[in-house]
Amino acid sequence: MAAAGLALAFKRSLGPQLSGVVFYAPYVAYALGAAISLWFRRARTFLLVALLFVAYVGYEAGMAMGPSSFPARVVLVSIMIFLPLNFLLAIALPERAVLHHRSYRWLFLVAAQVLVTRWVASAGRSLFSGTAWESLLEHWLLTGTPPPLAMIFIAAAFIAAVAKSLPRGAPLEVGAAGAMLAFFAACLGAGDPPQFQIFMAAAGLILLMAVLQESHGMAFRDELTGLPSRRTLEERLRTLGGVYTVAMVDVDHFKKFNDTYGHDVGDQVLRLVAARLMEVGGGGRAFRYGGEEFAVVFPDRPVKQVLPELEALREGIQSYRVALRGKDRPKDAETGRDHRGKKGRGASGVSVTVSIGAAERSDWFPTADEVVRGADEALYRAKKRGRNRVVSR
Ligand code: GH3
Ligand code: MG
Ligand code: MG
Repeated sequence: MAAAGLALAFKRSLGPQLSGVVFYAPYVAYALGAAISLWFRRARTFLLVALLFVAYVGYEAGMAMGPSSFPARVVLVSIMIFLPLNFLLAIALPERAVLHHRSYRWLFLVAAQVLVTRWVASAGRSLFSGTAWESLLEHWLLTGTPPPLAMIFIAAAFIAAVAKSLPRGAPLEVGAAGAMLAFFAACLGAGDPPQFQIFMAAAGLILLMAVLQESHGMAFRDELTGLPSRRTLEERLRTLGGVYTVAMVDVDHFKKFNDTYGHDVGDQVLRLVAARLMEVGGGGRAFRYGGEEFAVVFPDRPVKQVLPELEALREGIQSYRVALRGKDRPKDAETGRDHRGKKGRGASGVSVTVSIGAAERSDWFPTADEVVRGADEALYRAKKRGRNRVVSR
């Protein structure tokens, strides 16, 4: 958005130069956005980009008929109302409803909107119905740029996108919210083509960046826990120098836990452990190493300094109770009671413990690989000494 604002100021100071570039900028943004969305199979984002494209083509067609003409006014009002409405629908619907085999419905819907707009725009020029539509367009809800009705829909689409992006800020939804913001800025300048064009291009670029960020996140972030993945850890380790500590964290008897409570409860517990790991002190950063194993990296800290943090982490996980949700409970009540008795320590929930092994970079372990191996050995000892403990090397 800031870049679009700067581009607009730059364009204004240049005068009519670069008008062609500004005119084509949205098309370039949409072509790229559509291609990348298809490439990563993001049907929803593809749809949003396509909607921007249709709106922009409509805008240019309306402007070509004379910026202050009745048809141009109809097209503008239609774009400012229909685009956020379509965004709202695309954001609110489940991804399945947006996917390819149903996209013909979107095609019909958008085609219907275009036809209605055309019809109203041309009706204004005929003798019979012209005044009726003209007086409708005079309604206070439909006057102004953007008109109040459009602002309501823009705000609704923006809020829906933000709400859907929570709690972790899902990139595609954040992108949709950003695109709505850019569209709002474009609408404010609907009477001023460069502003409309630049912010419409920005809307496309925001969606494009959202798709790229999402696919990047898929490689570097673990889906289940939200922690950075092992791949991110390896990149982080390569940049570390001096003294630092790596801790390996492994859930105790997790196979048995899964067997007892089911894989879904197991997943729930992994998320919980991950949430605790995210809050670890001492400047530590947690990663999902794989399965039920995690790694925590403490830059610039010798192992002695982080032992209290690791001890607090171990204890925090041990004392946490996961409430069993109805559908995850063992089917048969008796087995459930049995399991709770054995493992649950009280009927209110279940808990797990973790074993932690830590090692620091030293003459013993001069490289990152060796520090990780050292932490692994320490973890092995923690397991052998009875689990639910921290061992350092
Ligand atoms: P130990 O105390 O020695 O670590 O015993 P363990 O059972 O935890 O060790 P093991 O490595 O044999 O078992 C790990 C189990 O973790 C196997 C698998 O069922 C479970 N697991 C790995 N990844 C996931 C996951 O993403 N979700 C769930 N629910 N379970 C997982
Ligand atoms: Mg384990
Ligand atoms: Mg393991």
